[in-house]
Amino acid sequence: MAQYNPVTEAVLAALKAAVGAEFVKNDPETLTKYQTDEETDPRLFHKPEVVVLPGNTGEVAKVMKIANQFNVPVTPRSAGTSVSDGAIPVYGGIVLLMERMHKILEINEAGMYMVVEAGALTKEIQEAAKAKNLLYAGDPCSADSCMIGGNIATNAGGNRAVRYGTTRDQIYAVEVVTPTGDIVNLGARLKKKSTGYCLEQLIMGSEGTLGIITKATLKLLPLPPYRLDLLAIFTDLHKAVTLVPNLIKAGLNPTSVEFMDNKFVRSSSDYCETKLPHYEDGCYLIVTIETFNEDELDTKMEQLDEICESSGAVDVLEADDRVWNLRRNCLESTRSISLIGSSDDLVVPVDQIANCITHLMDVSKDFKFTLFCLAHAGDGNLHFQLLKGDMTDQEWEDQVNGFHAIAYPYVYSLGGRLSGEHAIGAKKLVAMEKVTDPVELNMMRAIKRALDPKNILNPGKIFNV
Ligand SMILES: Cc1cc2nc3c(=O)[nH]c(=O)nc-3n(C[C@H](O)[C@H](O)[C@H](O)COP(=O)(O)OP(=O)(O)OC[C@H]3O[C@@H](n4cnc5c(N)ncnc54)[C@H](O)[C@@H]3O)c2cc1C
Repeated sequence: MAQYNPVTEAVLAALKAAVGAEFVKNDPETLTKYQTDEETDPRLFHKPEVVVLPGNTGEVAKVMKIANQFNVPVTPRSAGTSVSDGAIPVYGGIVLLMERMHKILEINEAGMYMVVEAGALTKEIQEAAKAKNLLYAGDPCSADSCMIGGNIATNAGGNRAVRYGTTRDQIYAVEVVTPTGDIVNLGARLKKKSTGYCLEQLIMGSEGTLGIITKATLKLLPLPPYRLDLLAIFTDLHKAVTLVPNLIKAGLNPTSVEFMDNKFVRSSSDYCETKLPHYEDGCYLIVTIETFNEDELDTKMEQLDEICESSGAVDVLEADDRVWNLRRNCLESTRSISLIGSSDDLVVPVDQIANCITHLMDVSKDFKFTLFCLAHAGDGNLHFQLLKGDMTDQEWEDQVNGFHAIAYPYVYSLGGRLSGEHAIGAKKLVAMEKVTDPVELNMMRAIKRALDPKNILNPGKIFNV
């Protein structure tokens, strides 16, 4: 168990001197606000002792030096949309909030890159790129509210990852404050690089345990001018998910391949007050194709239409924004059914996605919770939402643990992993320690100890040191 000191008057005074008194908050309302992220189970909340809002990289570095000096833990936080309890300050201490560092510093059209502060909103980055007829390809479904620093720290995925990869594929370089308070620039605006360890990639996806990202240089791409979204509806779930690897093999290079089971179709349709065909019995597969040439788009759409129909789709429609709205609101929609739920994010090889979804949905029938399933199907990444409903807390915990005890080893047996995009956070720490090769886990621990000898930065996440 990590041992830390409390945030004393001396710590508060040092923090106020570092960032300005108005940006150091420890009133009860603020502390309550930052005791959780998207977590809804109060048993998992932890209050910070102080919330600090630095205004620049130098101030972040000062906060880390103070934290080391006084042995106080620090939890970096961007928008707090983590669904893996990543932004919860498990050991109290300081929550370091990035929201003041939100500027887009440079958009370079000729060089096709953008430099941003880590607290810039993902949506604003996407819009700024689009205004220059360029594409920032990172696109988590939470883009309206999350920040780029949080995306980099979790290696966020989303709807376009099947074509463009996850956040780590969109980044040239990062400016980082180390756990001991040094400032370093990692990576470079280069197409290729074989110059020592690839430390920028180590920081990406490290969930704020190895450094605080303060700036990033993002890759921009040409924006494809032609786009069509298609909704393929299936009444047989297995047929819907079996189609996915065929679609990838056909060389259509889709931008998105999103799957919603019928429970999500119904909950999100009710929530959005939008009813599309087969509301009662349909699973939806949303496929987006983008091209630089109109004829290519027509050819690919014909091909896609044929594949969907020959795979057993009962309806194939051109999808408008109502369909994407249903997809975006899936998670929100289940909250009106049960406030307490457990979202799971698992990833398997794309050719195993059909087996995995159908098998685990069958397994879930032996449990009392309600299971909803959606997937970024084109990259093998599935999300289960388990809803508590009418159960005692103990029963709920036993049910969820019982399901995970079957699901996680099964996913590993298929060559999968515990998280495709939401990361491990505090939520899957115990599972991570159970399923990870001990040698791999010890390599991770050795890196953490070397960079953060006092275990100051985001303790209680990914694994125990
Ligand atoms: C409705 C909804 C839809 C979602 N859809 C997707 C999706 O499609 N794809 C996906 O990948 N995720 C999705 N998520 C999860 C979440 O939005 C992502 O994990 C996102 O990247 C978190 O960003 P944030 O700004 O909210 O970070 P936070 O929640 O504040 O932090 C996330 C983690 O990163 C660390 N961190 C934050 N900022 C920094 C920093 N500057 N330096 C170092 N560490 C930092 C935190 O300590 C924490 O561990 C969704 C969440 C919701 C609620």
